[in-house]
Amino acid sequence: MTNQSRVYGAVEAGGTKFVCAIGDESGSLLKEARFPTQDPASTLARMRLFLRNGCEEFGPLAGVGVGSFGPVQLDRRGAHYGCITRTPKPGWSGTEIIGGLERDFSCAVGFDTDVNAAALAEHRWGAAQDVHNLVYVTVGTGIGGGVLIDGKPIHGLMHPELGHLRPRRHPLDGGFPGICPFHGDCLEGVASGPAIQARSGASLRDLDASHVQWELEADYLGQLCAQLVLSLSPQRIVMGGGVMEQSRLLGPIRRRMDHWLGGYIDRKEVLSDDPGYIVTPGLGGRAGVLGALALAIDCAAEA
Ligand code: ZN
Repeated sequence: MTNQSRVYGAVEAGGTKFVCAIGDESGSLLKEARFPTQDPASTLARMRLFLRNGCEEFGPLAGVGVGSFGPVQLDRRGAHYGCITRTPKPGWSGTEIIGGLERDFSCAVGFDTDVNAAALAEHRWGAAQDVHNLVYVTVGTGIGGGVLIDGKPIHGLMHPELGHLRPRRHPLDGGFPGICPFHGDCLEGVASGPAIQARSGASLRDLDASHVQWELEADYLGQLCAQLVLSLSPQRIVMGGGVMEQSRLLGPIRRRMDHWLGGYIDRKEVLSDDPGYIVTPGLGGRAGVLGALALAIDCAAEA
């Protein structure tokens, strides 16, 4: 059997929805389903049923990849490998996402955060094919970031949690306490979709361009980008998620990144207003599920 004829299972396990797919080595999806994330037992049962049906339709899976909302345990030597750890999402803390998949489908199982997976997909098939060090940021229900160094997702102690970095508060945002249950006014607490809703009673797309919310959002995300440049030195920053569908945010974010960097970084990508440095995902909303497919392909190749 050649690699091209192998099929893989891919699962984007999001906090709001699950996207399951059967795909091949080229990144083509042969079958796809999406359903809302409900309680762990019924949601994971639907995921398994999809994969089981995929096997019947397309033959045995060569690998399964799962990119999950987090935080998750990625240390294979750890007792809770493959589990969601301390999430504010009710009922999901401690859930074993990939438990039993290896045994039930007789194949290798790759597991990572949804954002590390999306970064992998953007590197392989999307907007970051020409670089090896990149950050994928999602700004939606939460804020998360996946990091690829030399083409590989970064793990370390656990995995980066960029959404919980703490920005300097904007002078026009002093009265808002932030909504993160752990930190209050971390980045997710002040700039995620629910934070925008809590502050202004509407989503960004429904607010007039002159509304102060646009300025706050661009400033906070610009601060994040500046901190990424200074800490991880990415060659590109890909920004996706529901809030970033307002692509007119890109220019203002870029300008606020420049402001916070203060002319310190002497690279043309940063100094020249290069429109290719901060970009929206080349794969659009499919970066997550294609990332899970990339995890499946990679774990099968390593097995
Ligand atoms: Zn937080």
